[in-house]
Amino acid sequence: FTQKDEYCVVILGLDNAGKTTYLEAAKTKFTRNYKGLNPTKITTTVGLNIGTIDVQGVRLNFWDLGGQQELQSLWDKYYQESHGVIYVIDSNDRERMDESKIIFDKMIKNELLSGVPLLILANKQDLPDVMGVREIKPVFQQAGALIGRRDCLTIPVSALTGEGVDEGIKWLVEAIK
Ligand code: GDP
Repeated sequence: FTQKDEYCVVILGLDNAGKTTYLEAAKTKFTRNYKGLNPTKITTTVGLNIGTIDVQGVRLNFWDLGGQQELQSLWDKYYQESHGVIYVIDSNDRERMDESKIIFDKMIKNELLSGVPLLILANKQDLPDVMGVREIKPVFQQAGALIGRRDCLTIPVSALTGEGVDEGIKWLVEAIK
């Protein structure tokens, strides 16, 4: 891999959205012989989880930034280096949807990320009665002015079962390349 083929992707979203689980699922899908963390050992992100996967001839370095308020001031440093953003939403948590939207809007308005491809994940779709993409997309992927001219895709996923995980990663790779 030359540097040209190596990209950085930040994974954002509230704590408990499923960022760590998603990164693990992506590593599992795209890394031969990856055994992964025991799912019961996965705890809410408190700092920075890092992961690397090789897909379609490029290397993606992921930064899973903790969603907690006190860490959000650190995000700018990572934004500056990012080629792609994955925003993870807990589709089962209606109570925190507003909170998630506030964080999302703050991220989307950040100049450092303008033009950077954005993958929005409606996670936890394996659970019953969750908000679907049809409900989530109009909330997050609206307001053309905010999304701007960047490539953006909202898809349903389950980080737990792995459903939708490779579709999203493949889209992001194509958008970044
Ligand atoms: P993070 O704080 O955003 O890194 O979230 P985690 O990856 O630690 O996940 C928080 C909790 O949600 C854990 O109990 C996970 O097992 C659970 N979780 C994550 N993704 C899914 C999913 O797709 N479906 C279900 N049912 N639970 C999930």
